[in-house]
Amino acid sequence: MRIVVLAGGIGGARFLTGVRAYARQNGAEVTAIVNVGDDVIMHGLRICPDLDSVMYTLGGGADPERGWGRVGETWTVKEELAAYQAEPTWFGLGDKDIATHLVRTTMLNAGYPLSAVTEALCARWQPGVRMLPATDDRLETHAVVTLDGTQRAIHFQEWWVRHRGGVPTERFVFVGAESAKPAAGVLDALASADLVLVAPSNPVVSIAPILAVGALREAVTTGTAPVIGFSPIIGGAPVRGMADKCLAVVGVECSAAGVGGLYGARSAGGLLDGWLVDSTDSTAEVPDVRVRAIPLWMSDEDATAEMVRAAVELA
Ligand code: GDP
Ligand code: CA
Repeated sequence: MRIVVLAGGIGGARFLTGVRAYARQNGAEVTAIVNVGDDVIMHGLRICPDLDSVMYTLGGGADPERGWGRVGETWTVKEELAAYQAEPTWFGLGDKDIATHLVRTTMLNAGYPLSAVTEALCARWQPGVRMLPATDDRLETHAVVTLDGTQRAIHFQEWWVRHRGGVPTERFVFVGAESAKPAAGVLDALASADLVLVAPSNPVVSIAPILAVGALREAVTTGTAPVIGFSPIIGGAPVRGMADKCLAVVGVECSAAGVGGLYGARSAGGLLDGWLVDSTDSTAEVPDVRVRAIPLWMSDEDATAEMVRAAVELA
């Protein structure tokens, strides 16, 4: 069986540990298509937060407490940059993490596409799943906000990390999405998929930017593989992070039914055939989508692999 997973960063990474465990037990192959909308250049370095969260987590190098970045990290470069008052001072880059960004930036500057760079980085981390960026082209999530009485677009990282999503926000824009093409390998992976899973990632700023790549969305929505999604919202609240703030911006109720409705039924031009919600949300309904309630807490690898098993059954 070939499983393709659409994933953001921390939630996507946790979910993928369960998909990998399920795949090992059942002889399946896994490809992760990862969001690049959070990507940003800082201090001349190309940073890919979601790809790195997935790579470090699956490679056993992530900091489990912080949730992002490397375990055993040090911050010498950050302190030195601060001593120069080098902007942006609000973004934390760890010393070990910087090595990843240096290798990536050097390869990108030499002309390699991000998909090839990711494969090269994964040669070290051996994530056990094939990792593909959604696109090799530039695609950045920006937030249209009002700051000091003026409306302007800021990079998603500035919205999320610097302002903690706490500024008046009109909408999100996926800059570059109109012309972005699926990364090398993405369409082939989707064409040969037996099952597509939508991780319980942030629907607005992790999954939506992946699907903003037109040809990628079309391959998912018109493909032969069933599409099963997992709710990141349990009992009306995100398990962690600020999905509630993002959902408010797009005018969607912060609930399992709200996110399911945002994705919509594949039979009606949307994304989903099946939608898995947590047991506490067993009354959730999404028109024309099969909804099942199961425990959705990704407390450990086994619990998460159970979620995947339920998705295979539903499919
Ligand atoms: P990010 O890119 O680092 O923000 O991570 P993602 O977008 O991949 O995942 C963030 C989402 O994961 C949040 O909306 C959380 O609600 C969700 N999440 C985190 N842990 C769990 C969990 O144990 N169960 C479920 N259902 N969702 C979770
Ligand atoms: Ca992210």
